[in-house]
Amino acid sequence: MALGLSWTLDWIRRSGAVIADKRVELITLDRAIGDGDHGENMDRGFQAVVPKLDVLDDDATPGDALKLVATTLISTVGGAAGPLFGTAYLKAAIAVGSAPELDGAAVVALLTAARDGIVLRGKAEVGDKTMIDAWTPAVDAAVAAEAAGASESEILAAAAEAAAAGAVATEPLVAHKGRASYLGERAIGHRDPGAQSTAYLLQAAADAAQA
Ligand code: ADP
Ligand code: MG
Ligand code: MG
Repeated sequence: MALGLSWTLDWIRRSGAVIADKRVELITLDRAIGDGDHGENMDRGFQAVVPKLDVLDDDATPGDALKLVATTLISTVGGAAGPLFGTAYLKAAIAVGSAPELDGAAVVALLTAARDGIVLRGKAEVGDKTMIDAWTPAVDAAVAAEAAGASESEILAAAAEAAAAGAVATEPLVAHKGRASYLGERAIGHRDPGAQSTAYLLQAAADAAQA
């Protein structure tokens, strides 16, 4: 079943809930290899987004909601993650355009544009121990699922599963971007916070599509 405004709003609200729930965990991850603010930054951003959803018209599109997330995250999250996630949602909004409903191809386009936006902005490659290590496997899994004829919710479930595995797979890596790159080999053994928050956001997208 194609995904419309109600899925998009549910995704964003579930994102706010899971980020609030995992705030301390994300702080703890960032304390190990960064400056300990990732959970606080993300929670501040999503808690600012959720009440703003009420001002959207009933005939707003998924792209309108994604644009609202983008502008709010850019102005409230700060740090490295604010501009990166902000760009992701902005590029995702542009990719879905004014379509009222998103089919599987549009879901893939949304995820691909989000990932490409982060790469454009942050220049990270897979293996640099950043959020890209969750986003890129998620995009690859979504592309493969869509090519195999999966439904929108199956595509998102595949993406979320791959993002979660990608976040775990950052643990043995040395970081080449962001604050963790200052630590050299001392970053080994720690999961990247932005990859973990990405996994939570994509799980929220998948959960909203099941609901
Ligand atoms: P800051 O490092 O400024 O305190 P956050 O703690 O909110 O910002 O976010 C840190 C996360 O940002 C990292 O865990 C990593 O996933 C991500 N990140 C940092 N630099 C980059 C980059 N150049 N490209 C992609 N992601 C990055
Ligand atoms: Mg930080
Ligand atoms: Mg910081």
